[in-house]
Amino acid sequence: MRFQPFWFDEAITQADIEAAASAPHHGALDTQVCIIGGGFTGLWTAITLKKQKPELNIAIIEKDLCGQGASGRNGGAMLTWSSKFASLIKEFGLEQACFLVRQSEQAVHDIKAFTSKHGIECDCRIDGTYYTASNHSQRNAFGPITTLLDQHQLNVWQTLTKAQLQATGSNANLAGIYSPHGGSVQPAKLVRGLMKVAKALGVKVFEHTRYLKHQGQDTLTITTDKGEIRANQLVFAVNAWLPSLLPQFSRSVVLVSSDMAITTPAPEKLAAMRLNHGAPVIDARIFVNYYRTTSSGRLMLGKGGNYFSFNNQVRDTFHRASRYQAILERSFSHFFAHHQLEIDRTWTGPSDRSVSGIPFFGHLNGQANVFYGSGYSGNGVVQSYLGGQILASLLLNQHNDWRHCALVNQTLKQFPVEPFRTAGALMVRNAIRRKESAEDNNMPPHKLDVWLSKLSGSAAKLDPNVKQEYIK
Ligand SMILES: Cc1cc2nc3c(=O)[nH]c(=O)nc-3n(C[C@H](O)[C@H](O)[C@H](O)COP(=O)(O)OP(=O)(O)OC[C@H]3O[C@@H](n4cnc5c(N)ncnc54)[C@H](O)[C@@H]3O)c2cc1C
Repeated sequence: MRFQPFWFDEAITQADIEAAASAPHHGALDTQVCIIGGGFTGLWTAITLKKQKPELNIAIIEKDLCGQGASGRNGGAMLTWSSKFASLIKEFGLEQACFLVRQSEQAVHDIKAFTSKHGIECDCRIDGTYYTASNHSQRNAFGPITTLLDQHQLNVWQTLTKAQLQATGSNANLAGIYSPHGGSVQPAKLVRGLMKVAKALGVKVFEHTRYLKHQGQDTLTITTDKGEIRANQLVFAVNAWLPSLLPQFSRSVVLVSSDMAITTPAPEKLAAMRLNHGAPVIDARIFVNYYRTTSSGRLMLGKGGNYFSFNNQVRDTFHRASRYQAILERSFSHFFAHHQLEIDRTWTGPSDRSVSGIPFFGHLNGQANVFYGSGYSGNGVVQSYLGGQILASLLLNQHNDWRHCALVNQTLKQFPVEPFRTAGALMVRNAIRRKESAEDNNMPPHKLDVWLSKLSGSAAKLDPNVKQEYIK
């Protein structure tokens, strides 16, 4: 098998590989629902549909093995939308923003309950989330968003005392806030577990099967590299591959890498650092540093905003070790300089950043029986569970809160065309790097870099610019 990210490698067995290689092809299949993509979105959609309508025939086609996309290689940080409350208000208004924040918080606990009920062993630990200031310039990052949440009775964040801050395991964290809604998971074990649950519910899963094209209106003919499938409804749950498959989305997202490193097991060291919990720690910069531990005593650190893929192609560079090891090592030393942790592996993957930083779902070209869901913008572990609810409501045409929520059939804002998109993204990326490096060294950043950084919009995990007009 080609290079595998750490989590997927840990989750997959030789038996899984052989079973997928020798599984029968779909043949001349007639099904009610065909889902393209065997990641979190496709699998949660199938499971939600089956739980509500067990008699529905559902097939999932996945070009590789289920979980070989973003779902089996992400940071496994289970985050809510509470830190994006201002962005949600800006995009969708207050009522929808409150709804989405509450639902994302509940989803964390729903996922945990689901894994427990179905015996999915995926190291799912709901120990909360920390956002921290990892240099002086970030110290005031939390006030505006927590004040805004407070005013709408949504604030679950507690300001950390110096003693509580020690639970983040690093003296680089100068201040921080904590929410009990959040945690971490071994994402590849979760996605492989979801696949098994889906199969047990009667969903037909065809791995190593690539969607090529589809045609038709009421009855759709889907052409794959193994033949044809006839279906009444079709779902694109393909995440980073959406712009290559459906060019109308080519300007709706930017594919940017998140790069990850994981240490060899060092449970005693982590315990001594007070890092023997499952809460992710995320700093308040635009290109976040985030880290979390595993129950086996490894420490994983991730960093967003490195490689921008020209023309939004999922290139081979996403299927190798990270080319940004030096940046990852710098982040490790920023947080853990004195702990002599040894990096075991690095990997990377494409995040599908939308202009708003929020995902989108809907009917493709207004066609009633073809659906899409994408644009999680690096916040998808919890949100793809909600994506599954949304897509299932759309497919079943249910008149519920999900069917009518603001994430459905949005008018999507567009990034510039190429080559301006990538050129602009690199210019802004480099300005952010210079600004954040200056701030880490307690130096004033160049004014031009500060100005250019603001063009990154909603790229941070914590809303950086909470408009005063939102705060009463
Ligand atoms: C490196 C990285 C780190 C991240 N870290 C975090 C994090 O810590 N917390 C968080 O909340 N989110 C994180 N995310 C985001 C999160 O992983 C994603 O939002 C989420 O996994 C999306 O799930 P999905 O099912 O939509 O996409 P995927 O898991 O990518 O599934 C899409 C599937 O479609 C398949 N596919 C594509 N084209 C075809 C085709 N033609 N035919 C058949 N199948 C096809 C792909 O092979 C893939 O398996 C991260 C993402 C990356 C890349």
